[in-house]
Amino acid sequence: MAKIIKGKEIAKKIRQELKQEVVEKNLKPKLSVIMVGNDEASKIYVRNKNRACEEIGIEFEEHLLPEETSMEELLGLIEKLNNDETVSGILLQSPIPRHLNIKKAFETISPKKDVDGFNPVNIGRLEIGEPTFVSCTPFGVLKMLKEEKIEIEGKTAVVIGRSNIVGKPLIQLLLNKNATVVVTHSKTKNLEQYTKQADILISAVGKPKFIKKDMVKEGAVIIDVGINRLQDTKKIVGDVDFEDVFEKVSYITPVPGGVGPMTIAMLMHNVVTAAKNKS
Ligand code: NAD
Repeated sequence: MAKIIKGKEIAKKIRQELKQEVVEKNLKPKLSVIMVGNDEASKIYVRNKNRACEEIGIEFEEHLLPEETSMEELLGLIEKLNNDETVSGILLQSPIPRHLNIKKAFETISPKKDVDGFNPVNIGRLEIGEPTFVSCTPFGVLKMLKEEKIEIEGKTAVVIGRSNIVGKPLIQLLLNKNATVVVTHSKTKNLEQYTKQADILISAVGKPKFIKKDMVKEGAVIIDVGINRLQDTKKIVGDVDFEDVFEKVSYITPVPGGVGPMTIAMLMHNVVTAAKNKS
């Protein structure tokens, strides 16, 4: 029977520690969030980030730009925030309208304020194992493994998914911790041949209940990054069929309440780090 890794509780502990650190070190962290257009889901994500900032004592500033904003205007705002001494971290909420070049926007955010870890400079730093801002979801996964004292070194870690924000940074983080890393994706043939070898299996695919008992190794650690809303019941489930694999594995993260809450906690961690780097 598996131990459930309670991301919600770990995230709460992280937020409390950050709150204490902000007071003790007299930090003045400030997060500037840029949102372009009217994406409804983004509004909810931004509201949750705002709430977490309030709890910790991070000043929160929102820049709501209209749908028809030009690239010049967007880059102008980013540059202004780059040069604003009071701003510790800048976050561009995606998606942004299609006429805007998101890659160029991420490149323009100063690496020192890039609390999402999307600037290519910070991605490069992660590659060579230098301290940097790491994308919040993969960073949260590593933190969960650390909190549960799950050994990574020498283990076979299989990552399913290779997106720039989850899969790819995970590969590098696990490698930096001396795991033997196997990367799988939509073009991988005979996926279970790889997943069955995993001491640590991390799924970031976006397909409900995709991972079944016969795809996992006995005693494996299962980290489920997936967030999927079921069409019929509207329930949120992960990529892993939780009930099916539960008896076979040693650790498992639930959805909701697993990796999800860790993402915001690690964003808060990055904002506080940015404020510390400045002070
Ligand atoms: P994405 O769509 O960019 O990437 C999905 C990846 O899955 C791709 O690399 C693709 O190659 C791979 N894939 C698709 N079908 C596959 C298959 N049949 N076999 C193996 N691999 C397959 O998605 P993403 O942004 O990386 O997000 C992945 C999931 O994680 C989504 O459910 C998303 O909602 C969730 N997510 C959660 C958090 C969080 O905070 N917990 C954060 C980001 C993303």
